[in-house]
Amino acid sequence: MDKIKTTKHNKQSYWIITYGCQMNKSDSERIASFLQSQNFKKAKNKKTADLIIINACSVRQSAVDRVYGQINQIKKNEKKQKIYLTGCLTEKDKQALQPKVDLIFNIKELSTICGGEKIDTYFKIPPLPNNSVSVFIPISTGCDNFCSYCVVPYTRGREYHRPAEEILKEVEMFIKRGFKEIILLGQNVNSYHYKNIDFTDLLQLIENIPGNFWITFLTNHPKDLSEKLIDYVAESKKVCPYFHLPVQSGDNKILKLMNRHYTVKKYIKKVKKLRKKIKDVCISTDIIVGIPTETTSQFKNTAKLMKKLKFDMAYIAQYSPRPQTALSKVKDDIPKKEKQKREQELIKILEKTALENNKKYLGKTKVALITKYEKGYLFGHLKNQKQIKISSKKDLTGEMVKVKITQANPYSLKGELIYDKK
Ligand code: SF4
Repeated sequence: MDKIKTTKHNKQSYWIITYGCQMNKSDSERIASFLQSQNFKKAKNKKTADLIIINACSVRQSAVDRVYGQINQIKKNEKKQKIYLTGCLTEKDKQALQPKVDLIFNIKELSTICGGEKIDTYFKIPPLPNNSVSVFIPISTGCDNFCSYCVVPYTRGREYHRPAEEILKEVEMFIKRGFKEIILLGQNVNSYHYKNIDFTDLLQLIENIPGNFWITFLTNHPKDLSEKLIDYVAESKKVCPYFHLPVQSGDNKILKLMNRHYTVKKYIKKVKKLRKKIKDVCISTDIIVGIPTETTSQFKNTAKLMKKLKFDMAYIAQYSPRPQTALSKVKDDIPKKEKQKREQELIKILEKTALENNKKYLGKTKVALITKYEKGYLFGHLKNQKQIKISSKKDLTGEMVKVKITQANPYSLKGELIYDKK
C-alpha cells in the first residue's frame, strides 16, 4: 500500500474534507491531531495539499455522490495529490472507490495510516478542535438499533462505549484549556453505559468538574430517553436544555417499518414531558419523507405531527435506499418529485412553527456563548442552542454574554449586548 510519510525537515501538508454528521466532524479533529503528531502541517488550501483526506458519509446517496464528485475534481488538479478515504462507507462503495484513491482506511485504524503502530482505540488520539470554544467528545460510536433505512450499524459497526474515566480525562483537559462547551456525541447517547454508569450518571460526573461551561449532547433515541435524564437536565446548572430527538415519521405503520420501536403517542408524551419539566427547552428532530410504501395519508400524519409539536428545528431528508439495510430490499416506489413535494411541505410547516417559537424570545434577556466574530458581528448560541447574531465592535469569542433579543427569524435570533461580560 502506498502510504505517505513526512519528516521534521520535510513536512508534507494535509487537507481534510468532512461530510456528514458531528461524529464525522469529531473524527476529523482526531485525524488532524494525528497527522500533526506525524509532522504533517495543515495546507493553506485544498489545492496545495500533498495529502487530502476525505471523511465520507453514506447515510444518503447524495452524500456518496458528493464524494465521487470531490475525487474527480481533485484528480483534475495539476499537483499530484494523494487521496485517503475514510468515514461511513458501505462495502459496495469501498469496492467502487478503491481504484480511485490511494488508501481507504477504517477510522479505528487511524494510527496506522502513515506506517504507525496499531493502538487499541483511536479515541486515545486527542482531538484537535478547529476552534477554542466548543469541543466534540464522543462517548460512544456505532449503533445496535438497525433502523431499517440506516447504514450506520453496517459502516460504524456495533455500539462501543468509551470508559467513563477516559471521557472525564478528555473533558477535564479541554476545560483546563478554557473551552466553554462540551458536546457529547453518540449515535444514541441514551444507551451509554460503562460498568454501572449510565448516561445521566456520566452527565453528573462531567458536571462535577469545576469550571464555567455548558454540556450538550446528541443524538437521543426516543425509545431510550429516560425520565431520569429529563429530571436531571431540568435541575442541572451546566447541561443545556436542548434535545435532538429524531421522530423520523408521524405514522405508526411507517415507524414500525422503520424499526424505530416507539409509537407516535409515546413520542408525543416524551416531548410533552420535556416541555413541561425543562424551562426553555429547545427540541429538534430528523424526518425522512418518501420511505417505500409511504402513502399520502401516512405522510399527512407526519405533517400533522409537525404542526402539533412545533419543533424548533427539523432536518428533513428524502429517502434514498442504502445498501445492506433491510429497506434496500423493498422497492423505492415514491417518485423523486413526490419526495421533493413532501419535503417542501414540511419545510413550510417548520419555518412557521420555528418562527412562532422564536418570537417568544423577543424582548427577553438571555446568556449567549460567542463562538465567532466576523465583520462586526458576534455569532453564537443561547444555552438551548438557538443561534444568535449580535452587533459588536469587540471580538468576544469564547465569552458568555448577556443579550437582549431584538429580532426573531425562523432559524436564528438577533440581539443586542447588555454587558460585555456576564
Ligand atoms: S438509531 Fe437508527 S438511525 Fe440512528 S444510527 Fe442507529 S440505526 Fe441509524
